[in-house]
Amino acid sequence: MQLFENFLNNNKIWAANLKTKNPDYFKQMSKQQTPELLWIGCSDSRVPAELVVNAQPGEIFIHRNIANQVIATDFNCLSVLQYAVNVLHVKHIVVCGHYDCGGVKAALGKQNAGLLITNKWLMHVKNVYRLHQKEIDCLPTEEQRVNKLVELNIIEQVHALSHTSIIQDAWNKHNSPTIHGWVYGLSDGLLNTLITLNPRDEIHPIYEYESAI
Ligand SMILES: [Zn+2]
Repeated sequence: MQLFENFLNNNKIWAANLKTKNPDYFKQMSKQQTPELLWIGCSDSRVPAELVVNAQPGEIFIHRNIANQVIATDFNCLSVLQYAVNVLHVKHIVVCGHYDCGGVKAALGKQNAGLLITNKWLMHVKNVYRLHQKEIDCLPTEEQRVNKLVELNIIEQVHALSHTSIIQDAWNKHNSPTIHGWVYGLSDGLLNTLITLNPRDEIHPIYEYESAI
């Protein structure tokens, strides 16, 4: 385990190493960002977005929250989405969850009296469980039930993205971005695809806008 005091020293070493390789690295980096990918992931410290796909600074725009949720009233996530799509013009969005997710596990239990705010955030994952209750409850172990809900929650969030005005408008006008649902294995470090939504894929009619936005 790394001591907190080391982080600032490590930062100096990291910056110095990059400057040694390319003296203009930070000057170039400070001019602009052109990421192709928006990553919406879980806050879990074991799933660091850039590291698991070996990306460099400037390559991924990132939003993370507990259980990688896309909620229609969350202006934090929606602001990130709007900026990424309308200004940065990302070509891809990934919702990345992970097996053995503590948030998903908590959502399958009773509400925690000591975490009154977190309970409210996890309410949305509980709703995903109720949508798929039969499919989940028939699984024999808690691990399997948690991991099934992890997968279903990722798929649900990918669809939730397609329900936003931001995505529907971008699909109509720019035929972009593609939305991917990925799951990360804490035990093997591997990412797997669960779902891909391409621009103009079918959206359930109740989520479609009546006319152009
Ligand atoms: Zn998690």
